[in-house]
Amino acid sequence: MNKQRVGNSTFIHNLNQGSIFKIIHRYGPITRKELAENTNYSAATITNHVKTLIEEEYVIETKKGSSNGGRKPVYIKVNPKKGYMLAVNIGVNNCQLFLFDLNFSVISAQNFILDQNQTAQASLLEIKDKIETVLSDQQIKAEKILGLGIAVPALINRAKKRLEFAPNLGWKKLAISEVLAEYFSFPILIENEAKAAVIGEKEFIYPDDDNLVFVSINEGIGCGIILDGKLYTGASGNAGEFGHLIIDSDGPVCHCGNNGCWETMASENYLKNNISKYLAREVSLVEIAQLDFGENNLDQLLKEYAANIGIGLVNIINSLSPEQIIIGGEILKIQEKLLPTIKKIISKRSLQISGDYVKINFTELDGKAAVYGLAALVFNSSIEIIS
Ligand SMILES: [Zn+2]
Repeated sequence: MNKQRVGNSTFIHNLNQGSIFKIIHRYGPITRKELAENTNYSAATITNHVKTLIEEEYVIETKKGSSNGGRKPVYIKVNPKKGYMLAVNIGVNNCQLFLFDLNFSVISAQNFILDQNQTAQASLLEIKDKIETVLSDQQIKAEKILGLGIAVPALINRAKKRLEFAPNLGWKKLAISEVLAEYFSFPILIENEAKAAVIGEKEFIYPDDDNLVFVSINEGIGCGIILDGKLYTGASGNAGEFGHLIIDSDGPVCHCGNNGCWETMASENYLKNNISKYLAREVSLVEIAQLDFGENNLDQLLKEYAANIGIGLVNIINSLSPEQIIIGGEILKIQEKLLPTIKKIISKRSLQISGDYVKINFTELDGKAAVYGLAALVFNSSIEIIS
């Protein structure tokens, strides 16, 4: 049998076996008969591969339902304890460490904040310690981990598998995978946060939509694009930096060197700074969510901010014509206050033909789109099939 060993883990390496496993993963519990009826595989092929998958403990048999008094049919489903996926989403104000089982159930979830005064290297070691603690608390051996996905609000050098530049973290040219690979034998992958998030949305919320844009609004603005069902990364691996669309050429200076980039006028910092200035005290997004916007000037500041978000979205709608734009990030805390103005700008300013096809939603994954996307990436690359 074809098997590939990476680190201590065994991965499905047989084309048909991997495909059957993925179908069981997606549609299980499912009977052998249903598998044969809904795929191009013969009953004999299904029986053979399911037998191997059971022997290897990738899937288990289960009985459910009734069968008119006769024998209950035997269903096949994924063995959730066969393997696990780790996901770490690194943000400026919040980091997440999630452990998923093979069914994408969350086994462990924690949030933490990295000390901005420590070096990037020290932050990575802190993350390494937290991963070791989770595995030991959950009594899961490292060889059961299919991989670790790490999301960063950063440009990525895909060829060198390293972080290129994360302006809001202050990290540059950081070989995250290499540093952590000194401690872990499982595969480690790195992805931009918004790109991980759009994968999470596609896999778990919008499986039937093929053109999606995830807009992550935090200190900056990150975007992930799925076109025709596939993550679009462009020649540089970093396509979709819509945060640097110029929406006001006389606007504030951006760290990229231009003026009036979308992220300088539509990130949470812009709103926080303007409201703090108006109230003459520092306010957080949580406080902003509780402010009374019946007060005229405050309402005006909020509407101007929502309009800035809307203008950037109009540019995306007119250029890519997505079916879904999903907004995520810290800005979710004030989503109800923003949506009416955003929708108004889009209906007024976007090309009607593209505007008619797009739906604007805030993420339903409640700030977890990126970690779910990372788990899906790890899962898909583990069951990557090289025949
Ligand atoms: Zn810029």
